[in-house]
Amino acid sequence: MTIGTLMELQANLKMLNLSQMARSLDGLLRQARENGIGYDEFLLELTASELQSRAENRLSRRIREAKFPLLKSLETFDLAAVPELDIRLFRDLATGDFIKEHRNVIFLGRSGTGKTHMATALGIEACRNNFRTRFVTCYGLVNELIEARQEKILQRLLQRYARHELVVLDELGYIPFSKEESELLFQVLAERHEKGSVMITTNLGFADWTQIFGDPVMTAALLDRLTHKARIINCNWDSYRLKQSLREKSKH
Ligand code: ADP
Ligand code: MG
Repeated sequence: MTIGTLMELQANLKMLNLSQMARSLDGLLRQARENGIGYDEFLLELTASELQSRAENRLSRRIREAKFPLLKSLETFDLAAVPELDIRLFRDLATGDFIKEHRNVIFLGRSGTGKTHMATALGIEACRNNFRTRFVTCYGLVNELIEARQEKILQRLLQRYARHELVVLDELGYIPFSKEESELLFQVLAERHEKGSVMITTNLGFADWTQIFGDPVMTAALLDRLTHKARIINCNWDSYRLKQSLREKSKH
C-alpha cells in the first residue's frame, strides 16, 4: 500500500468517526502482511480495536459522570473479612439486574463495615454495565437541591437525577434534615419509585428514620416506596478497620 492510500484510508476512517480504526490501521496492516493474515481476520481485528476503545471511553465517561469520591473496586473488597455477607446476593447485584428491574438496595449497618466501599464497587460495576450512575452523599444531595431551588433551577436538577439509572445515596442518617431539606430529598426519592434504582447506605435502622426526616407520615410513605421490592443488606458485623487494627496489635 502506498503512503498516499494509507493516508486517504485513515482520513476516511476519521470522517466515519472510526478514529481508533484509523489509529490501529498502520500497525495492523503491517502485522497482517508479516503474518500472512487474510482480509477477513484483518478486518475483524481492526473493528475489534474500535469496539474496545469505545467500551473503554464509555466506561471512563460513566465513571467520571458518577463522581465517586474514591474508586473503591470489587477487586479490593475482601469477602473473606465479611463471612456474614450474602455473597450470592452481592454477586447478583454486581450484574446490574436490579437496575434493569428498578429495584433499590439498602445497606444498613454501623460505621466502618464497608457500606460505602460496597456501594462504590457496585456503582463502578453499574458503570461497566453501561448504566448512567451517580454517587452522592445525602449531605451533598441536599445541598445541591437547596442551591438549585435558590437559583430557580430545581426542576432541571430533579430531571437530571431522574435520568440516572442508579443513584447511590451515601450516608443517610448522620445529619438530620430541616423540613425543607427532607421534602426535597423526598421528592427526588419518590420520583424515582419504580422508574430508577436507588442504593442507600445508612447507619440507621428503619425505625429511626423519622428522626432524620422529621415528619412520621412522610417517612412512612418514603420507607414504603423505598423498601418495596428492595434488596436489604444488614451489615451487622464489626468495623473492618477495627478488626484490622486489632489484628495488627495481636501481631506485636
Ligand atoms: P462504612 O461506609 O460502612 O462506614 P467504609 O466502606 O467506609 O465503611 O469502610 C471503611 C474502610 O474499610 C474503607 O477504607 C474500606 O475500603 C475498608 N473496608 C471495609 N470493609 C472492607 C472489606 N471487606 N475489604 C476491604 N476493605 C474494606
Ligand atoms: Mg460510609
